[in-house]
Amino acid sequence: MRFPLALSAKIAKHIIRNKLKGVKKFPLVLQLEPLHTCNLTCTGCGRIREYSTSLKDVMPLEDCLASAAECDAPMVSICGGEPTIYPAIEELVAGLRQQGRIVYICTNSARMRQKIRDWLTRTYSPATEPKIIALLAAGLITEKEAAEIRQAKSDGRPSIAPTKWLYWNVHLDSLEHIHDLIVEREGVFKECIAAIKMAKILGYQVATNTTVFKETDMQEVEHMFDYVSNLGVDGVTISPGYDYDAAKVDMVKRGKAKPEEFFLTRKMTHEKFAKVVEWGQKYPLLGTPAYLEFLTGKRDLHCTAWAIPTRNVAGWKAPCYLMTDGHYPTYQEMLAKVDWDKYGVFAGVVRDPRCENCMTHCGYEPTASLGIDTKRGDLWKILKYNFGPRPIRITDVSHVDAFNGVSSGRGHITGKNPGRP
Ligand code: SF4
Ligand code: SF4
Repeated sequence: MRFPLALSAKIAKHIIRNKLKGVKKFPLVLQLEPLHTCNLTCTGCGRIREYSTSLKDVMPLEDCLASAAECDAPMVSICGGEPTIYPAIEELVAGLRQQGRIVYICTNSARMRQKIRDWLTRTYSPATEPKIIALLAAGLITEKEAAEIRQAKSDGRPSIAPTKWLYWNVHLDSLEHIHDLIVEREGVFKECIAAIKMAKILGYQVATNTTVFKETDMQEVEHMFDYVSNLGVDGVTISPGYDYDAAKVDMVKRGKAKPEEFFLTRKMTHEKFAKVVEWGQKYPLLGTPAYLEFLTGKRDLHCTAWAIPTRNVAGWKAPCYLMTDGHYPTYQEMLAKVDWDKYGVFAGVVRDPRCENCMTHCGYEPTASLGIDTKRGDLWKILKYNFGPRPIRITDVSHVDAFNGVSSGRGHITGKNPGRP
């Protein structure tokens, strides 16, 4: 199956329960941003710009857990900023698991191997030894790190342990050269791949998330999917980047690029995602067939941003992950006070000019799952897509030039051959 049965069943139960109660608007995924601090400065990231005055602020652990409880979404995606920097990330994951949530940790991977080593150290026993040997053989830990793990020091804190209820969700925008350009640091792609390999050896579930920009080469994205499929990832997600205000303003200010040269319009999104339905059959693409069809321009969906709400240091962010018209103290207050009909694009009608080019998953992915804008045959498609067999792992990746950046001497930021491709 594309998604473990227990997880699909949990989400289905949540939807049915709310529908039976007659609840009109309810959440499916909480995007929890316990902090906005990050160890990268990716081009196009509005988070670290919009909240640049609060980079030192973090949400107290109790607030994070209380927000998840109030919202009651079955899935919580911990994002940010970089969530592994959050001082109580282990306690947060443990608390969310105690609440019965499916947890995604959205990470740029820079600290992922450290967090996994922390788990190995806190739980080490002789039974761990074959795993340590496998990690050493694959060059994923050093002898010094293995020795530290074997000391089995436990500080009494919880760990991020492998479970079917948890996914590491690794930010991966392309193969090495382009990915490192987008995240504005060399070596990040290489670390992503090492972290994915380490996680898979230890039995974690791993997904990747990719944002497509104007300059993204979709052939290369396809190669990247071949490559990560070969690594055994459990899921991939893909969403179009769009010119929301904070990212646009930052880009102009830094003189990096003109927004219209970087972000996608609606028409460009249709062109870029022309093969996404086919990819859904070939790769473990998570989501709904309706959203994939929407990306190709073959159908319309209403924006249901209320189903993937964002909670951050300032409160519940309305109307969505991308745009900010205010923050509210509770999810229920946000639901009640926001005029949701003001947002989105449907049947060519742009309700808010800022939504014009937005086709992102946080606005449109949940729509069909919630039974909105469904067409005849959608239910069967969703069942077949999610409960059918997972696409077969790609075995031959000899055509993929994954390390086509600084690893192959093609330094572009600090290396010998600077310059954009
Ligand atoms: S890793 Fe994520 S939060 Fe950090 S700068 Fe990049 S996109 Fe933004
Ligand atoms: S269409 Fe929805 S998700 Fe996109 S910017 Fe508008 S309100 Fe936000």
